Formats: sequence, C-alpha cells, structure tokens
Amino acid sequence: MSVDLAPLVPYLSDLRAGRPLAVLTGAGVSAESGLPTFRGAGGLWEGQRAEDLATPDAFARDPVRVWRFYEWRREKVRAARPNEAHLALARLEEVLPRMTVITQNVDGLHQAAGSRRPIELHGNILRDRCSGCGTVTPAAPAPFETLPPRCSLCAALLRPDVVWFGEILPAAPWHEAEATAEGSAVFLVVGTSSVVAPASSLGLLAARSGAHLFEVNPEATPLAPLAEGVFRTSASEVMTAFAKALGAR
Ligand code: NAD
Ligand code: ZN
Repeated sequence: MSVDLAPLVPYLSDLRAGRPLAVLTGAGVSAESGLPTFRGAGGLWEGQRAEDLATPDAFARDPVRVWRFYEWRREKVRAARPNEAHLALARLEEVLPRMTVITQNVDGLHQAAGSRRPIELHGNILRDRCSGCGTVTPAAPAPFETLPPRCSLCAALLRPDVVWFGEILPAAPWHEAEATAEGSAVFLVVGTSSVVAPASSLGLLAARSGAHLFEVNPEATPLAPLAEGVFRTSASEVMTAFAKALGAR
C-alpha cells in the first residue's frame, strides 16, 4: 500500500500549525465497512433503486415498504464497524488543532471510530422521528415488531430521522457546514459521487473561498475538474497515509 501524497505535501505543515482542514465524506467511506453505496453495485433493494425508496412520496404511498427497506439498512448498519478510513480520520483529530468532518452518511461510523463531532448533513438512520409531532428518539436495538411503527405520544407514523431525496437539509448542520467550507484552508472530498445537492456544492464553495480542494474516489466525479489534486483509490488507503504523514499515531 503506497499512496503518493505529493499533491498534499505542501499543506501538511500549515495543517499541523492550525490552519483548518475540512473533510466531506460520503457513502464510499463506509463501503469498506460493508455498507452499500447508493450508486454503486449493491445499491439495489428488491430490484428497486434506493433513490426511489428514500423519498417522501414513497413513504406516503407505501410506508411499510419504505420501512422494510430501512430495517434492512439498519441491520447492516448495526452490524458494521468503522474501517481504516474512519479510524484514520478520528486519529487526525488528535493531532490537528482545527479539523472538521462533514458527512452525508447516516450510519454513525465516524462517531463509532472516535470522531468527536462530525456534522451530520443527512441525519442518522439509528434514530426515529415522528412525522406528526417531530419527537426524535434513538432507534431500538432490534427491528420493529409491527410496521409501520407509530409514535407513542401522538400515534402518527414514525419515520427514520434521515433526509430523503427532495427534502431540505436540517438548517443548523447545513449552515455549520457552509461556514466550515468557507473557512477551510484544505478541503478533502472523500467517497462521494458529488451529485447529490446541496452537499455536492460544498467543495465548490470551499474552492471559491480559497481552499485547496482534493478528491479521494476510485472513480471520476463532476467535482474532479475543480480539484487541485485527485486520488483515484480507496478512502482507507489515502486517509491512512494522510494520517501517518501528519504524525497521527
Ligand atoms: P453515492 O452512493 O452517490 O457515491 C458513493 C461514491 O463513493 C461513489 O462515487 C464511489 O465511486 C465512491 N466509492 C466507492 N467505494 C469507495 C472507497 N472504498 N473509497 C472511496 N470512495 C469510494 O453516495 P453519496 O455521494 O454519499 O450520496 C448518496 C446519499 O445516500 C447520501 O445522501 C447519503 O446520505 C446516502 N447514503 C448513506 C450511506 C451510509 O450512511 N453509509 C450509504 C448509502 C447512501
Ligand atoms: Zn408524535
């Protein structure tokens, strides 16, 4: 395993000295933990695209079907463990004075690896939210006995506390992510197809605000032409090498 980090080398000492690093992660970072991405192989469920199930319309039409899809995903998330990419990012926080993880993932694996406070743009799949009264509760450790589940306070349907396609992102994390992108000196975009708005705009925002933009993804994305450097390999390889180069244990 040898990744040529040359494009990043000019910035390592600045980062050590406290210039801000932001890392935007997507489903590709969790692929090596066995969680399927939406757009890669394995993104299908019972022959349907995830993008057709993770929508408010799908839930209004057939909440049981959408819940069965989410119970399937929850089982995978409950069984998953952080991989070397999550772990390297958590170790980096220990040596970099100013580092922020912004994630589109809903699996909680950054926290499980030890990242202190990742900004979760799309919610967390291991929480339920009432579609009526809005109450948010941690998901029980086991699947529901009856679907669709209902709120114990108001009897409205529960839904997973995630952002579906066509929904607006929660305001607080989104504004924090924008400010982080604008203020970053180096911005890494890792394991995301960069096609799901508005998260896909953060790299552009960072670059326009003067950040050095880099992409880590085995495949090309629409963001790549804007990046100062691209690493066409796995998140775990690059993040492990990067953490090592910065002296993380
Ligand atoms: P995506 O499925 O659109 O793209 C995943 C990207 O990861 C692809 O570009 C792929 O080339 C890349 N990739 C695959 N393996 C990789 C590896 N080992 N290292 C680095 N990159 C790798 O995912 P997205 O861009 O995150 O957007 C999809 C949406 O789906 C997000 O909103 C997210 O919330 C949701 N989602 C979340 C999870 C999760 O939490 N684990 C899983 C699937 C989808
Ligand atoms: Zn309720």
